[in-house]
Formats: sequence, structure tokens, C-alpha cells
Amino acid sequence: MSLRPALFPELINHIASSIADHAEAVTTLDQAIGDGDHVFNLQRGLQALQTNSAEIAALDWPDAWQKIGMLLMSSVGGASGSLYATLFINLAKNSRDKNLDTPNFATIFALAIDAVKLRGKADVGEKTMLDVLAPVAEALKQDAATGKTLPELLDHACQVAEDGVESTRAMLATKGRASFLGERSIGHIDAGAKTAQLIIAAVAEVLKAASA
Ligand code: ADP
Ligand code: MG
Repeated sequence: MSLRPALFPELINHIASSIADHAEAVTTLDQAIGDGDHVFNLQRGLQALQTNSAEIAALDWPDAWQKIGMLLMSSVGGASGSLYATLFINLAKNSRDKNLDTPNFATIFALAIDAVKLRGKADVGEKTMLDVLAPVAEALKQDAATGKTLPELLDHACQVAEDGVESTRAMLATKGRASFLGERSIGHIDAGAKTAQLIIAAVAEVLKAASA
């Protein structure tokens, strides 16, 4: 996959508009089992990235990811801010001097998700964004190894992300604010899982259009 940093402004605008389109629905999810600020937190980060998008687009991907991580760390409050910052800083760390083809990107992304797990002391099955991000990382690795085309791989990632969102519904939250509710967290979709899926879908749309 040839990821061009030049796509960054388009990527970030597309993500921001998707989050804006779903803001009300996600906030409703977050009010049920969180404190209702997740969209607001995310939008502060997206705003910071949009403000800096020309500068980020001029960097190579490792430096761009590092800058994205630092901006998210400083602009987003809440658990999700430091977790996404960790993700991007680890994309940067593991991608130096690497050819960013699909198999390498899949490996780097999986390492970044492992870092998020460590940072949040969480894993799949705890009703968080990891229930989307980790299965997507796994699918990317498998698909990269089987030589799927980019559109096939992106479609599969989107499907896995949607399944991941739905999987959180039946889970008992054991991390984050939703865990304070105990059994009452069961039956609700996790807001952070939903926004992770929206981000993945938006990225996939831009990458598919760019590769067509
Ligand atoms: P806060 O919980 O501090 O208010 P946000 O509302 O921005 O932060 O983000 C909440 C989301 O972050 C949750 O919906 C969940 O998906 C994710 N999250 C919370 N704690 C963790 C964790 N330890 N590991 C992974 N994701 C987490
Ligand atoms: Mg919150």
C-alpha cells in the first residue's frame, strides 16, 4: 500500500465530517455508559489535526504519525486521547526506515495496537475501542499475507470493524468509566468502539478512492 502523506488533509477532513455526522448518536451511546464527552474529546483532537494538516502533509509518514500523536496527546482530554496518541507515536516508532507496503504496515499497526493495550492495561473483550482496533489489526495482517487487493482488504477491515462494534453490546465493561456501572454496562454499544469504526470506515473510503 503506498500511503502518501499528501492524503492527510483529505483523510482528516473525511474523518471529522463522519464524526460530526454521527456526533449525536455516539453521544447518546456515551451518555448511557460513559460521561458523554467522548465526541467532544475526539473533536478537539480532530480540530488540532485539521489546523496542522498542511504541515503534517509535508512530513514523511513516521514524522507525520509522531506529530499526530503529540497533537492528540496535548489536545484531547480523556482516556481516548492518550490511547490514540500512543497508537500514533508507536506507528512512528515502528515505521522508521521501513518500506510502508501492506505487509509492513499491517505489522506496524499491530505493534501500535499492542502498545495501546499496554498503555490502557486492557485487551479485547473489555468493551472498548480495542474490540474494533485489535480485530482489524489481526485481519490486516492475515489479508496482507494472503495477497488480497487493497479494496478487498479495506472492505474486509470495515466489516471486521462493524462486527467489533456490535460485539461490545453484550460485553461487561471492565475498563474505563463504563466499568463503574458493572452489569448495567451490558446491552450498550461502547462509544469508543463506534468512533474507532467510523474512523476506519472514513480512512478506507479515502484510500479506496485514491487507489481507484
Ligand atoms: P474518558 O473515558 O476519560 O471520559 P473518552 O470519553 O474520550 O474518555 O473515551 C472513552 C472511550 O475510551 C471508551 O468508550 C473506550 O472505548 C475507551 N477506553 C477507555 N478506557 C480504555 C482502556 N483502558 N483501554 C482501551 N480503551 C479504553
Ligand atoms: Mg468520556
